[in-house]
Amino acid sequence: MPTVFVGGCLCEAVRYISSAEPITTVHCCCADCRKIGGTGHATHTVVPDTAFKLSGKVTKFSRTADSGNQIHRYFCSKCGSAIYHTREGLEGLLVIRTSSMDDPEIAEPKMVIFTSSAVSWDHMDRELPAYEKMSNVRPGDVRDTD
Ligand SMILES: [Zn+2]
Ligand SMILES: [Zn+2]
Repeated sequence: MPTVFVGGCLCEAVRYISSAEPITTVHCCCADCRKIGGTGHATHTVVPDTAFKLSGKVTKFSRTADSGNQIHRYFCSKCGSAIYHTREGLEGLLVIRTSSMDDPEIAEPKMVIFTSSAVSWDHMDRELPAYEKMSNVRPGDVRDTD
């Protein structure tokens, strides 16, 4: 399979390859993304899980989201960099932390979610569709390629 983009953690113990183009990229302002990110939001790039190949050791942290679905987040076991997550309700998809991509410029953010939890000083792109909660997002919004 062709390599479309690559990424990994800060210490380089974890590396990954995606053999598919991103399906979408989303800014999420929820409190969980704020806690685990470095600022008021986290940016996530969605790919088919079959396109993702990872090497190195990751640690899993699972937590129930507002929706009641489990989210499983994976971090480098050595340096703690966030790499990706999977979640119930998004079977077949894998959500890469955009900040872990070697070339994050290839990601094109398409929407902002959980604006109800946004921090006042974390200004997002006003041109993007914005949703107060994840539950307001129709499945087609997430799966659309453009
Ligand atoms: Zn690392
Ligand atoms: Zn979030």
